[in-house]
Amino acid sequence: MDKNLLAKVYSPLNFQKRGYQLIDELTAHLDDKLNEKSEKAINWNDPEEELKFWKDFLKNGDENDLFKTITERTTYVHHPHYIGHQVSPAAPITALTGMISSLLNNGMAVYEMGMSPSAIERVVTDLLCERIGWNADARGFLTSGGTLANLTALLTARKAILNEDVWNAGTSSALGIMVSEEAHYCVDRAARIMGLGEKGIIKIPCGESFQMDISVLEEKYKEAKAKGITIFAIVGSAPSTATGMFDNLKAIGQFAKKYNVWFHVDGAHGGAGIFSKKYKHTLKGIENADSVVIDGHKMMMLPTITTALLLKNGMYANATFSQKADYLLTDSDHEDWYNSGKRTFECTKTMMSIHWYTMLKYYGEAVFDAYVTQLYDMGASFGDIIEHHASFHLAVTPMANIVCFRFVDSNLSQIQLNELNAKIRHQLLEDGEFYIVQTKLRGWHYLRVTVMNPFTTTDHFQKLLDKIVSLAEKSVSSKTTVC
Ligand SMILES: *Cc1c(COP(=O)(O)O)cnc(C)c1O
Repeated sequence: MDKNLLAKVYSPLNFQKRGYQLIDELTAHLDDKLNEKSEKAINWNDPEEELKFWKDFLKNGDENDLFKTITERTTYVHHPHYIGHQVSPAAPITALTGMISSLLNNGMAVYEMGMSPSAIERVVTDLLCERIGWNADARGFLTSGGTLANLTALLTARKAILNEDVWNAGTSSALGIMVSEEAHYCVDRAARIMGLGEKGIIKIPCGESFQMDISVLEEKYKEAKAKGITIFAIVGSAPSTATGMFDNLKAIGQFAKKYNVWFHVDGAHGGAGIFSKKYKHTLKGIENADSVVIDGHKMMMLPTITTALLLKNGMYANATFSQKADYLLTDSDHEDWYNSGKRTFECTKTMMSIHWYTMLKYYGEAVFDAYVTQLYDMGASFGDIIEHHASFHLAVTPMANIVCFRFVDSNLSQIQLNELNAKIRHQLLEDGEFYIVQTKLRGWHYLRVTVMNPFTTTDHFQKLLDKIVSLAEKSVSSKTTVC
């Protein structure tokens, strides 16, 4: 056994040396990407090639280059040309809180293992509940991702709404939830994990606008009921992931109230809109929800993973995983908000509350308004540019910062256009100057951008479109030559 090795691992001086080096490197990285000193938004490598590289690096790489090399061989979320997925360019200050969380490593499951972050979590979630428009009965907690938060919310719903206690007794009843066909796949996955099966996921079709068709809710509910399925929850997307369209939360809330089902809002992406004076209206009716999910790592500039699950009636939070059939607090029970492990799926979790709190302390709530408003404004501008561009088709007028569009050419068939748009997206990936993603909507292959960087401008977007047109023209003309 090499005791010196362990001493080396824990040497404060070694930490300091590497720490300063890392801060310098990350500062250079930020400057390089934010200020577009480097051209690329992604340094794309084929997965097999990447694997080979890192196998080799473990043997032959210089340890002094390790951090820098990891950083270089990634997607640069701080580059204004990063307009792909919904993960935010983390506010640099939260890289520092990330470091605190990692080093202190307080596991958070019980109060004693994370006193400051547990109390801070209460401050942050209370604020979110208040901004949703709830009263002092509301409570929230932080958990590891929107996926887990949606599952947790549905488990809470099942316990709160049904007369039977499925968590403790199991069930052979046919249970179901209602959700739009455009909802994030994790809702479907959560329902399957809960044993609802495919028949228990009542998919509500979307109209032309990719929003849940409210007019069929009653009919779908009755149809399920006739089949013996007990619906206990309905999920509204705010917005849905693929197209960024918000469901009519007001109407869904009214429906939920009428039939006594739990109303859950998946605001993983757009829940942060509660802070935007200009775009708060996208969430009209959210105050009637029983539960809301908001991802901090999407529209609030926080690092992955930082998610809030918020409940209008906080009492239910302690019930979800409780083995007591009666979840209502008895006289001898106290609320126990500070032992978060009782309410979260995970036992150990990171000190994610400190990212949120630090943003509030340093920049105030106004920073969330500024971020959401800027990005949604840009989403609208991009949509407008596409709408007036002869070479492109816009899937739907954006309501948020997600824009789906495709290159069009009246000489090409749907199959050819699908192939062409997929090819363009792959060429963009390999090229790396811009990072955008793609999605299938009603059989059509679409290019998809999410404006996540507050410094992405319409000029950047124009450059992207020019690039796409030139790639498309090259592709089409090379095909004709071959023919
Ligand atoms: C991103 C997203 C999720 C999943 O959240 P993770 O934090 O990635 O687990 C769920 N729902 C919606 C609407 C999303 O946009």
